[in-house]
Amino acid sequence: MKRIFNFSAGPCTLPLPALEKAQAEFVDFKGKGMSLIEMSHRSKEYDAVHMEAMDLIKELFGVPAGYKVLFLGGGATLQFGMVPMNFLPAGGSADYVVTGSWAKKAYEDAAKIGKANVIWSGKEGNFMNLPDPASLKIDPSASYLHLTSNETIGGVQWKRFPDPGKVPMICDMSSDFMSRRVKVGDFALIYAGAQKNVGPAGVAIVIVREDMLAKCPDSLPAYLNFKTHADSDSLYNTPPVFSVYFVGLTLQWLKGIGGLEAAERLADQRAGFIYGAMEKSGGFYRCPVAEPVRSKMNIVFRLPSEELEKQFIAEALERSMSGLKGHRSVGGIRVSAYNANGLDSIKDCVAFMKSFASQNS
Ligand SMILES: *Cc1c(COP(=O)(O)O)cnc(C)c1O
Repeated sequence: MKRIFNFSAGPCTLPLPALEKAQAEFVDFKGKGMSLIEMSHRSKEYDAVHMEAMDLIKELFGVPAGYKVLFLGGGATLQFGMVPMNFLPAGGSADYVVTGSWAKKAYEDAAKIGKANVIWSGKEGNFMNLPDPASLKIDPSASYLHLTSNETIGGVQWKRFPDPGKVPMICDMSSDFMSRRVKVGDFALIYAGAQKNVGPAGVAIVIVREDMLAKCPDSLPAYLNFKTHADSDSLYNTPPVFSVYFVGLTLQWLKGIGGLEAAERLADQRAGFIYGAMEKSGGFYRCPVAEPVRSKMNIVFRLPSEELEKQFIAEALERSMSGLKGHRSVGGIRVSAYNANGLDSIKDCVAFMKSFASQNS
């Protein structure tokens, strides 16, 4: 089989060694005569898988003592609702920085639960910029501040995070989780859907500071309360066992290539190649995003016309590069370059960008 270069925004390409390991042990897990996905989630085999995946997140992401790692269903999208249900009490308010489509969705769900304030919006500038972190007017009495570290559709990424003082900082890191080193201790809660950098769809990872758990209201249905999951190591109900298992395999691979330090270096290189190719194209490829906040994960650009963009996507596919179409809401081209997108795929993409520009400009 020839694997093609997959630049999809998510679900996205995953490391081949992890896929192959899952394949090899899929039908008969560790000689038990059944697949992991047929096994009780209370079995000692699954327990070991579950705890190893959790430990790898703590180890590789540098999660300090005093935090819990949770595996939840419902994707990052459920967190848009769970965060305010747990942490936005009646009479309180939460501050939202609306940097693009995902932050907007998080804000809209919060506004259904309680008082959510937009303290900065990128709407007027078409979400092509981010605020200077120091300039944000964070309400010191806010229940929390909510950020989106990387806008997967618009292609903007925070390079430095604000200092919210005593206000708990909550961040949706779905599309750059495990691609960069982050000071976890600065955050009260971090969440990420797995399918952008660390595994298949079906599990969201939540990293929550333990003092936050005291705020979760007992009136919530069990599943929607973070405390339920924290108290049971995410084994309150049946967890998405296959997704958790595959997160473990992906993180074993990441550890093997050098962990977050390597991930960060590779992300710099991948993004450097693509943005570099744009720069050298003499204006043929234009990145609409303000330079200091250009994403290293989702690299967006335009060509001189929509016709050329269509042709670019079609010709790329002929060369075994898929997933380059920008999100339908913004158009253009998007190169999603996650941890498992090898430099070989990026070099191929850059070579194609070069030849396409010279043939069509
Ligand atoms: C993909 C994505 C989401 C939604 O994730 P689901 O797991 O599909 O719910 C939320 N936020 C960001 C930044 C994303 O990239």
